[in-house]
Amino acid sequence: MKMIKHYLLFLLVALSVLKLRADEGIWLPMLLEQLNEQEMKTMGLKITAEDIYSINHSSMKDGILLFGTGCTGSLISPEGLLITNHHCGLSLIQKHSSLEHDYLKQGFWAMNKAEELLNPGLTVTFIVRMEDVSERVLAEVGEEMALTEKKAIIDARIKEIIAEATEGTHYEAVVKPFYQGNEYYLIVSEKYLDVRLVGAPPNGIGSYGGDVDNWMWPRHSGDFSLFRIYTAPDGSPAPYSPQNVPMKSRYFFPVSTQGVKEGDFAMIYGFPYRTQEYLSSYGIQYVEEVEHPSRIALRHERLRIIDREMSKSDKVRIQYASKQSGIANGYKKWQGAVRGLRRAGAVSKKQAYEAEFMRRVSGKEEWRAKYSHILPELKSLYQQFRPVARHFWYFQEAAYAIELIDFAAELGELTALMQGGASEAAIADARSKALRRAKGFFNNYEPKIDREIMAVMLRMYADSIPASQQPEVLREIVNSKKYQGDFELFAQEVFTESAFTNGRSFESFLTNADLRQIEKDPAYQLMAQLVSHYYSHILPPFQQLKAQIDELNRLYMQAQREVFSEKRFYPDANFSLRLTYGKVQGYQPRDAVVYRYYTTLSGAIDKYRNHPEKGVYDLPERLMQLYQDKDYGPYGQEGEMRIGFITTTHTTGGNSGSPVFDGEGRLIGLYFDRNWEGTMSDIFYDPEQCRGISVDIRYILFLIDKYAGAGYLLNEMKLE
Ligand code: GLU
Repeated sequence: MKMIKHYLLFLLVALSVLKLRADEGIWLPMLLEQLNEQEMKTMGLKITAEDIYSINHSSMKDGILLFGTGCTGSLISPEGLLITNHHCGLSLIQKHSSLEHDYLKQGFWAMNKAEELLNPGLTVTFIVRMEDVSERVLAEVGEEMALTEKKAIIDARIKEIIAEATEGTHYEAVVKPFYQGNEYYLIVSEKYLDVRLVGAPPNGIGSYGGDVDNWMWPRHSGDFSLFRIYTAPDGSPAPYSPQNVPMKSRYFFPVSTQGVKEGDFAMIYGFPYRTQEYLSSYGIQYVEEVEHPSRIALRHERLRIIDREMSKSDKVRIQYASKQSGIANGYKKWQGAVRGLRRAGAVSKKQAYEAEFMRRVSGKEEWRAKYSHILPELKSLYQQFRPVARHFWYFQEAAYAIELIDFAAELGELTALMQGGASEAAIADARSKALRRAKGFFNNYEPKIDREIMAVMLRMYADSIPASQQPEVLREIVNSKKYQGDFELFAQEVFTESAFTNGRSFESFLTNADLRQIEKDPAYQLMAQLVSHYYSHILPPFQQLKAQIDELNRLYMQAQREVFSEKRFYPDANFSLRLTYGKVQGYQPRDAVVYRYYTTLSGAIDKYRNHPEKGVYDLPERLMQLYQDKDYGPYGQEGEMRIGFITTTHTTGGNSGSPVFDGEGRLIGLYFDRNWEGTMSDIFYDPEQCRGISVDIRYILFLIDKYAGAGYLLNEMKLE
């Protein structure tokens, strides 16, 4: 009896793990009609799958763009005006900022098109079409082939497909693997090269709450910025020219001024970067116990140093703004993820799922032969992988955290040419390229900070990785009579003797230096020793084991789709265009605590008044005044200014800046983050805890119009 009860209980857990809730999923837009449209309609979608994605006529996909190389944006006017996050535009806003024009602190608003700021190098990319090319890519690939042979065949097919797809056009194309390499899709895109900054609120609004509030709900930031795309007069993409004209948008989104309420349907369109939803329990354990903790520990120390110096000096605050936010972002997210995975019992739920998988597999001869080895082999591979990957992450997060090492490594091209006896002209070219790069680097570089980071990072590396596996240079610092483990002394020496630590000395050094002089520089030497150890001892075993794990994961994915045929599978995010949908909904983060689905300006003011510590909750005066006067124009609701709301949609990094739509395809918000309890959704989605955080579009309209006085921009938009 007890046995039966136990079995029933187990079955129940396994079945609940199998169930995919409507909110989970990062769906392919061209498969919506087949897989999702029905369900979306019952949830509140009023338009059709064809309206969302079509290759025959204009559809919502034509208004969605990849902003730069890591975010999403969308068109909101017929004249190429686009909206994305403040944190996506941050490095550009920083580039335009100086102590005299502190756009980070004050915000920036072009009051007409002539005042918009150029951003050389910034691009936006639209998707022209996506196409399943799996059959062609995999036609000659056999199950028994060696990995390298498979790869060679796949790469060759991909090359052909790309060449055909782009021939005679200015389009770009990639072929990406989906479902762990069981399917391949061709993605054809069009890139625009002249993108100008139109407006950005000050940090005190755009990233209100800073690191303290990052990855958190309740949230009060107005995380948006505006840019405009320009084209050649004939409408084609072109680099900046005074002749360029604002883009004539093929599609742009109407903006809803109606607001949202609990239970409303919401969908998010964009370029989610990477998820790993089909990891085995061993994979989750590895992330939870090895990868995330190693990275968190090292970033903790690095940030301690950077934060301290940023709070002491405005110059350093501007120089390090973008770098710091990148480091802090991952640091905090991984902490939330580790906590969330534990709380959700992700490992034991996966184990129950795997037990059900094995039960089904062993019940059928064909599956037993093909699939029963997968999980035991993954288990043993992860055992080998854990120490190797730990070393890999220590190197990445300690050695490459030292900016000087990273910078010196960039001289590789020049020194390789010098070593290979390349022509004078080629060397001169590489030299001037390095000098140009150096200018950008030293603009945002404070040697004092980097010296301290060098000492601390190298010490942590030496303390944490088995001595026999460490690069020689670390053992020398620990064991030599000279240093006796004094990493500060070592760093001090490198920084005193190297020509790489300040812009002016580096410029005059590199202008004349020959190979021998470069190689003698202590910063270059340290880099060369560390990097050569990395390429000979750390990276090869890491890559080899990872390739074996990836191949097994491919087979496991294939097996899951076959064995759990009742389940609807979506491919992991891979930085391709996707749609996710769900509802506007609050949640219960812990016992007895319920979070409402929206926040208000009163909440922002409350944080400001009750947390006077500098730099976290600094609301600009003008916003305080508007609050005092309750001057919300048509954008308020019931006497309040709403700021953010949350949805059950399944999103990840890369979705930053994604538009959030109602059932009619109107813009209701701008996605920018997830909640702390739900950051594990990249690996394990829990519908009770995972929420996407968006800025209410009405707060954005209010800021443009009432706060910035740039209401002229609203005239371009279609408000409904
Ligand atoms: N705020 C997130 C980030 O900066 C992006 C969105 C997400 O990952 O949910 O990485």
